[in-house]
Amino acid sequence: LSHGSPEKEKTLAMIKPDGLFGNYTDEIKRVILHSGFSILKEMSIQLNEVNVRLFYAEHSKKSFFPSLVKYMTSGPVFVMILEKVNAIADWRALIGPTDASKAKVTHPDSIRAICGLDLERNCVHGSDSPQSAAREISFFFGDTLSSGFKLFGASYI
Ligand code: ADP
Ligand code: MG
Repeated sequence: LSHGSPEKEKTLAMIKPDGLFGNYTDEIKRVILHSGFSILKEMSIQLNEVNVRLFYAEHSKKSFFPSLVKYMTSGPVFVMILEKVNAIADWRALIGPTDASKAKVTHPDSIRAICGLDLERNCVHGSDSPQSAAREISFFFGDTLSSGFKLFGASYI
């Protein structure tokens, strides 16, 4: 077996509604490119409640779920496919911990520390595993049979 060049990996990155409202998109894209990621695809989209319930299905039983659905439908999101070696873990490291208010203390250089506000409004998303990355990339950028169903009723902007 040859281990000459490590395989590139793809992950799904998302700027959430608070990130777009705060005009952080250009700054976040600069950080992404400066950190060695390629942006393979990108799209702005206004999700509806059904779309968000599907995307965040793993959290559907949590007490914060209704609030999360409201937050994620409060405005458009900007989704990107990022690619580089170790993209999934590196993007998660770059965005920092889920709670943006804690990130400001423990990871002050992270994207959530800079653009986010609290445990909910943390301005960005990143896939947490190869399985999530595959699912989330197909959710937004899959063929029309799979993605068209999951994004039914969403508005492309
Ligand atoms: P991450 O986005 O870091 O993977 P989770 O998958 O645990 O975090 O949660 C998904 C999203 O739900 C978070 O990014 C955040 O916006 C929101 N969220 C998570 N936990 C809470 C909570 N306890 N209260 C309110 N919102 C939360
Ligand atoms: Mg998660």
